[in-house]
Amino acid sequence: MNIINDPQEMRRCADHLRAEGKTIGLVPTMGALHAGHMSLVHAALRENDVAVVSIFVNPTQFAPHEDFGKYPRTFQSDIEQLKAAGVSYVYAPSAESMYPEDFVTYVEIGKVTEGLCGGSRPQFFRGVATVVMKLFHAVKPHRAYFGQKDVQQCAVIKRMVRDMDMGIDIIILPVVREPDGLAMSSRNAYLSPEDRRQALAISRALFEAGERMCGGERDSTELIRGVRECMAALQIDYVSLVDAESMQEVCRIEGKVALAAAAVLPTARLIDNIIYDPVENRVF
Ligand code: AMP
Repeated sequence: MNIINDPQEMRRCADHLRAEGKTIGLVPTMGALHAGHMSLVHAALRENDVAVVSIFVNPTQFAPHEDFGKYPRTFQSDIEQLKAAGVSYVYAPSAESMYPEDFVTYVEIGKVTEGLCGGSRPQFFRGVATVVMKLFHAVKPHRAYFGQKDVQQCAVIKRMVRDMDMGIDIIILPVVREPDGLAMSSRNAYLSPEDRRQALAISRALFEAGERMCGGERDSTELIRGVRECMAALQIDYVSLVDAESMQEVCRIEGKVALAAAAVLPTARLIDNIIYDPVENRVF
């Protein structure tokens, strides 16, 4: 396995692979890998000649009061998992090589970043878009893989790639869940058994709303009320029904929508969502 720590070296390696005519699939992660991440890794391995997995806990997407310092870092076991899956390139840049002291350039994306997580974490998507742009420039992927778990992030990256004519295929894969429905997340490791039990209300609330949408409910206020009721024991950050592409709130379901929720538990802020397509009358 090749572990590359420097953007310049990564670019050289990507140039070399491309010169050999190889297609590159990138899976950006912050490590602490779980089955959700690995579903992206397996798809990247299947669909490309080379899969590159990046591991970088990106400081610019965390606000000063957030969990950057204590974010789980499990590099050795991540590497073992990736080796076992057959990944031959890991890009794990150092913070200094990504953000030298005189770094001043950021990527700002309008509108699509405004609500949901962008509403409660104002600097978050600026950090995400900046780091993903940098990863794309270093790894030069043909395809990049993201999880629907972070539905607004998917919309933001798709928009950035489109607006900036980057010509990278953005592939979105479904939310991988624990057997009881909780969306897998590196932050689930923070949860006490009691919080873990309480957290289940998020996915339950969304699934219940999904059933109502499939049953014909189209009214946003009604659906959101139901989700909030189901999550009443939690501190709710937001519950929103938005157009699945623009991330703008909708009053009634007329096209593909995302129903997204975030809750703040004592040790972790958790997010989850479902996508509903009225044409297929199906929830994803
Ligand atoms: P992170 O390490 O949390 O930044 O996540 C890296 C990638 O894995 C992102 O594209 C996430 O959306 C994706 N991901 C995280 N959790 C899940 C999950 N439960 N199911 C599918 N993808 C996920």
